Amino acid sequence: MLINISIEKAEKILADQNIEPKTVDVPILDSLDHILAEDIKSDINMPPFDRSSLDGYALRTKDTADASAENPVTLETIDNIRAGYVSKKTVGKGQAVRIMTGAKIPKGADAIIKYEDTVFTDKSVKIFGYVKPNSGIAGAGEDIAMGDTLLGRGKTINPADIGILAILGKEKVKVYRRPKVAVISTGDELININEALKEGKIRNSNAYTIGAQVKKIGSEIKIFGICGDNVLSIKKELDSALQWGDIVITTGGVSLGDADVVKEAFEEVGGKVLFWKVNMKPGSPIAVARYKDKLLFGLSGNPAAAYVTFEKFVRPTILRLSGETEYELTKIKSTLRDEFIKVSGRDRVVRAKTYYKNGGFFTELPDKHSSGILSGLSETNSLFCVPAGTGPYKKGDRIEVELLGY
Ligand code: AMP
Ligand code: MG
Repeated sequence: MLINISIEKAEKILADQNIEPKTVDVPILDSLDHILAEDIKSDINMPPFDRSSLDGYALRTKDTADASAENPVTLETIDNIRAGYVSKKTVGKGQAVRIMTGAKIPKGADAIIKYEDTVFTDKSVKIFGYVKPNSGIAGAGEDIAMGDTLLGRGKTINPADIGILAILGKEKVKVYRRPKVAVISTGDELININEALKEGKIRNSNAYTIGAQVKKIGSEIKIFGICGDNVLSIKKELDSALQWGDIVITTGGVSLGDADVVKEAFEEVGGKVLFWKVNMKPGSPIAVARYKDKLLFGLSGNPAAAYVTFEKFVRPTILRLSGETEYELTKIKSTLRDEFIKVSGRDRVVRAKTYYKNGGFFTELPDKHSSGILSGLSETNSLFCVPAGTGPYKKGDRIEVELLGY
């Protein structure tokens, strides 16, 4: 077990876990925003037949060779076809077929003229100029050709992709399954959110904040119970959480206090602790363990610390297990609007509010920095990562921030 490691080292250990994302076949509508786990090849041409891309007349372009505004050519209308129907007739010399967008081009015809460019009656149509071959025709396979690989494994499925799957006749598609995430709250002081406050007790907020962070990236969340600060109670809850989930997150009980027993409980259920404590502020108390192909994250009970360590370590892990290859937070350059004078030997992850104004990004810092502060998180949309030993930072300094929620 590694102790007191850097943020980068912790990220690397997590990235090196090599847990294969699992795949699942889902109805195509349910695949939205998931990562495709198969290549999608077309077994059809699209359109499957030459079709009209206009409402107009199908004709033989040869017949229009001498047509002009002064000397229009009059063709006999021998049929009228709508999309979904096929004309049994063949367009012969001096003939035309009235046709609607999407209908199959009748035999003999080699172009479509839109009806606005003609003068027509029920029986005939006048053409006032030469019509070029193939105009107004969408050829078979013009959109999608048989054998084309349309969507590659690893692509994030968007609404257009779901349309492509539909036109290929696929009802289901193979995607990477998002990991199921279980949350356990530990602490003798915790009570449920529907309970009245009692002396010395607080309501369990972490399970809900984390639950929402998990939901935001599309994973399934299940809130397990509150455990007291004892190995036995935590172990019991971990056992059931591990039965259900791919990732288990606990909060509380992971620092150096007398009641900090989570790490021991991870070992009791058979987990191997990969690291304990990361050199960062907030969030330094964190234990990560592996059990088979599952990961256990023991986060601090402090709401802000749990929030930040979720974003830094748990979020990328969930995304990786969902088959994503890009899971890092987006980094941007911004102008600091407040000063940040603390210099520390640990990397700091400062909660920040970043906004775009007059062509640039600006970042404000909350008044309350302590890791126990929950309320200030409401305005947090970014993290100002202050490398150990740097600073102080002045108002107007250019800094780098990581955007949350992108
Ligand atoms: P711990 O990590 O157990 O030392 O807890 C640090 C602080 O976070 C303490 O003030 C706890 O009461 C508080 N805390 C622990 N768990 C939760 C929770 N689930 N919701 C809100 N606050 C918590
Ligand atoms: Mg505690």
